[in-house]
Amino acid sequence: MIPVTKPYLPNREKLNQYIDGIYERQWLTNNGQLVQQLTQRLEDYLGVENLLLVSNGTLALQIAYRALGVSDATPAAQPEAITTPFTFIATASSLKWDGVQPVFTDIDPDAWCLSPANIKAAITPRTRAIVPVHVFGNACDVETIDKIASAHSLKVIYDASHAFGVKYKGESLLKHGDAATLSFHATKLFHTCEGGAIIFKRKEDLERAKKMINFGIAGPETIRELGINAKMNELQAAMGLCVLDEIELIERDRRELTETYEACLGGKGQRQRILAGATRNHAYYPVAFKDSDELAKVISSLSNSKIVARRYFYPSLESVACLETDSLGCPESRKLAERIACLPIYSGLTKENVVSIADTVLEVLK
Ligand SMILES: *Cc1c(COP(=O)(O)O)cnc(C)c1O
Repeated sequence: MIPVTKPYLPNREKLNQYIDGIYERQWLTNNGQLVQQLTQRLEDYLGVENLLLVSNGTLALQIAYRALGVSDATPAAQPEAITTPFTFIATASSLKWDGVQPVFTDIDPDAWCLSPANIKAAITPRTRAIVPVHVFGNACDVETIDKIASAHSLKVIYDASHAFGVKYKGESLLKHGDAATLSFHATKLFHTCEGGAIIFKRKEDLERAKKMINFGIAGPETIRELGINAKMNELQAAMGLCVLDEIELIERDRRELTETYEACLGGKGQRQRILAGATRNHAYYPVAFKDSDELAKVISSLSNSKIVARRYFYPSLESVACLETDSLGCPESRKLAERIACLPIYSGLTKENVVSIADTVLEVLK
């Protein structure tokens, strides 16, 4: 069976050495040595400052909302955040969970990210933030979005879960927004089994968030603000340090697989339009087909060959009842969600695998 993705397992001996160190120090969590090392190495590798490691990508979003005053302990204020319906559920459910109503506006039909023109029209007096997603690692139109936000005094939190290592105009894409969040879930390009990070624009927001992830504890006998537990532990950091040592190999594997897909599929199937000036990290290989029938045929034909193509992202989130949205509908997102899937891509998948996957797809599109 060829799955759509596989977690990357780094060198085992190196991981054992880190675990030996954990046993010697007998320090398992609460900003341990390995968490500190990983923080520093990720800041260097990504070219960012003010990075905070947390226990997963969903809490990264929630801490960012809280540290930036988007969510708070007074849901009576009924705050809103404008976000995209074409994403993983966690982008929107994390808002709703914390009493912020997600308001969905439609995506750009070619770039598949939030369309800035639609954002403007959805701003109300309750809007506190814009939460765009660099979906499949494709950079949003960050310059226009950042401008809209500052004109209306809104916070911007980019869900950059897919955008590890992406650069825009020569600098880290993660520098855009008041905060950008990453997920280090096992299936992501870079992972710590479970984990995540927030990159804050401002140091004072980082300092506030540092206390928030540790129950709001400000000193041995001081608690000034509500907090939660969102700390990364030493075992997670050990995995991250090992994966980071091999990140160039991971990226090379994925780039080569992407190139093989591109060469085999040629002009067949719609691919995402990548923002000019942005790099790609090849975290996913999404293809949009003509319609839901064609997609269903592709999926079933691949499945007959024991290959899994997954419907990322379905359904379009404005249709999810528990989010209680009254958005007017997002036709572009809905149409895209009906006809898109991600094809397998991961280290360990061979070029021959990709050729045979592409052949199966092309057989359906003939
Ligand atoms: C994976 C993902 C998340 C959630 O991250 P976890 O680490 O699994 O909590 C949030 N948003 C997007 C877009 C994701 O892909």
